[in-house]
Amino acid sequence: MVKPPRKKSSSKYTYGPVPSRRLGHSLGIDIIPHKNCSFDCIYCQLGKTINKTVVREEYAPVEPILDEVRTVLKSKVQIDYLTFSGSGEPTLHKRIGYLINELKKTTEIPIAVLTNGSLLYMPDVRNDLRNADVVVPTLCTADQKVFQKIHRNHASLDIHKIIEGYIEFRMIYKGKIWLEVMLIKGINDGTDQINELKIVIDRIIPDKIHLNTVVRPPSEEYAHPVSQETLQNIRRILGEKCEIVVDFKPKTIAAEYTDQLNGIAAIIARRPITIDDLAKITGLHKNEILKYIQVLLKKDVIEKSRHDQKEYYRTLRGSDD
Ligand code: SF4
Repeated sequence: MVKPPRKKSSSKYTYGPVPSRRLGHSLGIDIIPHKNCSFDCIYCQLGKTINKTVVREEYAPVEPILDEVRTVLKSKVQIDYLTFSGSGEPTLHKRIGYLINELKKTTEIPIAVLTNGSLLYMPDVRNDLRNADVVVPTLCTADQKVFQKIHRNHASLDIHKIIEGYIEFRMIYKGKIWLEVMLIKGINDGTDQINELKIVIDRIIPDKIHLNTVVRPPSEEYAHPVSQETLQNIRRILGEKCEIVVDFKPKTIAAEYTDQLNGIAAIIARRPITIDDLAKITGLHKNEILKYIQVLLKKDVIEKSRHDQKEYYRTLRGSDD
């Protein structure tokens, strides 16, 4: 029998912990409204950017965010990282530095920030991230035209300025930098481009380079993944710090995870539904739902379709209950 997903109506700013390829059991902290971002990436799994901006604001009040994280921490669930990520670019929040510092006083669980890196040219952003344990910024290209093609960035942004920001950040930052390179077939995977990127990466001196590709349904259908062979070739060019990030597979799948997965599959089996509606019904954060959606898509339990400018998910077969 399929159980309904666990209701989490009190989760406004946190989601998970969700299994993450790189961060184990990662408690997501989402401090930016949905798709407020300085980019509108063609590979974005969250759809089109609603507010393209580089203006830093207090997008969500900090005390309720801290209260919510502290409440989750008290519940004693396994958490390997507190991860600022989510529905938009977290460094747009002008008090992210305060949040990191306050959480550092609360817990020893390491803090990660997943960022598109576009604001690291700003001294206040670099300063805000100083006390994070891991910063995972994106760098897909060293070429301005390709940068614009992939990220459809805010008009004020320039890849050369961003790269200089990364280099400045490396000079002051004592934590780990895991640079993520998202590869899109035919757009940024050419050998010349990768060689050019390597020159820049050698100046940034990240601790790791993570190669990724478009494994989740992208914002634009023309954003195709590169092959395993291309990933291997690029890994060889970028050297020993470089690894291909693969799907995190927990050793044992928790019963709760299976319940959530089957519960979501059961809702979709009833009618085609959007992520927003799934979030309303289940009380789960959209990003958490997305993780389950990826699994169901991969297992060919559901498919994505588009109607009236909206993305729906509908069933292909029954769930594995
Ligand atoms: S992938 Fe990240 S940086 Fe790109 S548009 Fe989506 S949220 Fe913004």
